[in-house]
This record gives sequence, C-alpha cells and structure tokens, in this order.
Amino acid sequence: MRFQTSKIQHGFRSAVAAASLMLAGAMSLGSLPNTAHAAGGMVADPAGVAPDRYVYYPGTEALAKDEVRVIACGTGMPDARRAQASACFLFEFGNGEKMIFDLGTGSMRNINALMIPAEYLTKIFISHLHTDHWGDLASLWAGGWTSGRPVPLKVWGPSGMTPDMGTKYAVEHFLKAYNWDYQTRAFKISPVPGSIEVEEFDYKAVNKIIYDTNGIRIRSIPAIHAGDGPVSFIIEYAGLKLVFGGDTSPNKWFVEHAKNSDFVVHEAFGTPEFFVKDYNQPPQLAWRACCEFHTSGPAFGKIMSEIKPRHAVAYHSMEEAIPGVRAGIRETYEGPLSMAVDNMVWNITKDQVVERMTVSPDRASGVPGPTRQPPPERGRPSPMSNFIKGGEWGPAFNAQSEMLDEHAKKYSLQDQDWRKQKPWYQSQ
Ligand SMILES: [Zn+2]
Ligand SMILES: [Zn+2]
Repeated sequence: MRFQTSKIQHGFRSAVAAASLMLAGAMSLGSLPNTAHAAGGMVADPAGVAPDRYVYYPGTEALAKDEVRVIACGTGMPDARRAQASACFLFEFGNGEKMIFDLGTGSMRNINALMIPAEYLTKIFISHLHTDHWGDLASLWAGGWTSGRPVPLKVWGPSGMTPDMGTKYAVEHFLKAYNWDYQTRAFKISPVPGSIEVEEFDYKAVNKIIYDTNGIRIRSIPAIHAGDGPVSFIIEYAGLKLVFGGDTSPNKWFVEHAKNSDFVVHEAFGTPEFFVKDYNQPPQLAWRACCEFHTSGPAFGKIMSEIKPRHAVAYHSMEEAIPGVRAGIRETYEGPLSMAVDNMVWNITKDQVVERMTVSPDRASGVPGPTRQPPPERGRPSPMSNFIKGGEWGPAFNAQSEMLDEHAKKYSLQDQDWRKQKPWYQSQ
C-alpha cells in the first residue's frame, strides 16, 4: 500500500532523495539543498510510524490501470562498478505489461532484486548496441532460463548502416557465441526459453510505430551517437507520453518528438574536467566524450527547457559526478528533475509523478509465476559423450542417495529416476 502523503513535491525532491540514498545504503550526493522536509515525514510520538518512508518495496504495490512505474536498474557508465550498473530502465504498466529499456552490464542484479517471475521479463527494447546498453542480455537470457522462464525472449532494436551493424545480426551472433551454453541448457532444461526473437526496425524511422499491442504504443526516433543506429523510444500508454532516450548528443528529433511529455529519461554526462580527474580520460577525449557524442548538463537543461516535460530524469553519470551534472543542468533548466541513481523509482499518473527509492534484497531468489517450463525435448542428441559420462565416480553419486530418495518421494518422481540408467547405481 502507498501512503497518501507520498506525493513528493518537486521543491524538496532533491533533499528527500539524498536522505533516501542514505537509507538505501548508497552514498550521499553532497551539495544538495537542505530543507525542513525529511524522508519519512514527522513521527508524532515515540511509538509512532513515519507516514512516508520514501521507499518502494517491490512486489507490495499494485499499479492502477492508468499508472506506470519506472525503475532505474542501471544509471552508470560502461566500466563495471559494484555500486552502479550500466543503463537499464524497467517500465511496468498498469495493464500488467513489463518492458526493459536497455539492459546494460550489471543491471540484471538490480532487476533480479525486484523478484519478478522470469516469465514476465521477456520484452527488451535496445536503444543501441554498446555493451553498457545490452551487455546483461546474457544474464537475463541464461539466468531466467535456469530460474523458470517458460518462453523465449523478444528483443526490439534498431537496424544499422549495414546488416552487420544491426540488432538482428548482434542477437544472432550472440546466440552463436553462446552456443555451448545454449546446447547444454537446451538438452538439460528445454530449448524453448533459450530462443530470442528479434524485431529489427529502421533506425532512420522518425516517430514511426514499432510496437502497438494491448494499449501500449512505442515509437522510435533516431539518435546521434558514435555511429548510425542508435535510437530513442517514445512510449504512449493510458494518455501518458513517456520517453526513454538512449545515448545521444543533442538532436532535433528528440526536441521535436519528446515535446510535452509526461516523463522523459535522457542521458546527462559529467563535465570534461570530471572525466579527466575521476575517469582517467585524456583531455582530448574527455571534452568529446561528454559533449560531442553524449549530452552534458547544460545541454540536457537546454533540451528540457525546450520540450518542457512534466518530469525530467537525467542518467548515465557516476554518482560522484552528479553534483556537477546537476549544477550544469540548473544553468539552463528550472523544471522538475530527478538525478537518477540505481534503484530510483517513479510512479507516473496524469495527476502526479512520485519519485522514491527501491529497497530490495541483496540476495534475491527466483520467484515462481503461474506457468511451468516445458519438459526437455525428446530425441535431442546429448552434448555429452560416453567418454565423459564414463568418468562419473559412483561412490560420491551414491552418497547422495538418501537425499535424492526423499526428493523423489516428496515430488512423486520415482518413474523419472535418472539414476537407474547409471552403471554405478545402487538401490538402497
Ligand atoms: Zn553508447
Ligand atoms: Zn552508454
């Protein structure tokens, strides 16, 4: 349940965010304005409860039909860090649909912490093919497969200047690279959840519909970043217009088509000096990286002042760069703003945009959905030879007998006892 007082007003969102970050165990962002409001609100007596903890506990709140929840599952840079994953935003819609927009390296740890059954995490939209935007496809693909996903994944992504620069090529070759993983899991579990369907669309398409199902309509616009191919997505649902921008430098398509949105996610990079001092980039690279093939704070602010969203979200900065990015944004934009960190969450309706922090466990486990995985495919050739099988050392296998007999009895698996075909098998 969500408390009535959870309407975080724009004016003190930053201070509340800073406090909540400490609650969530993350670092303080420093240099944020102090206000009288603290996360939790007033606690009226020593036995009282805080009216609003400014936190979201996954799996405890149903969405209203016309509501969207967006969770930042990765907001950082390409180089892996324990505290911050690369680009990933999970969109959850009031009609039950869930879609992942970018799936950067490290982000599956945050997605899995939400403890959503794997069968609901099958739709992935990729803005471009840098690893910090799709590097964790492997984790979702294999991890979901082993934790019960009964169906294939589906990926939407842009074409490229040539076929070998497009999403279809990337995913086909991803599956080739992971062929050993595929073949072994396909034999032991089921091949079905291991396939990936690709829906590749023209990266040059301007505001063309690439998805239109079940009340959700998604359009693509070109982005300008490193080479031809990158795009941003415009998502319409229940009268809301939401925008997910992948990597891009300031571009005319974004300014034109993201106008008057309810919720806009766009990258905002640290200053050139930050990339020299804190990111080990040579100065000649630092001022191009931040500001030629990405968008800096002042440029982000200029864009938002032009498109005037109900709420703007900046991401793609290391946490310690955020004060500098924010200062840059505030030179050119005064409107509603979140500086995204991993696990920040927004509930979006026509009436309000509420920002909070997700509180989720470090040691999440797989959660069952209603659908069971299909059984292994009959007649599929084994990826293991008799030479290797012949190396099984019976005494250790037989040492498990008591535990496995109990399991067989508990789940009525006696007629599927795999031990009976083994040369070392000794019945108790
Ligand atoms: Zn990129
Ligand atoms: Zn990136």
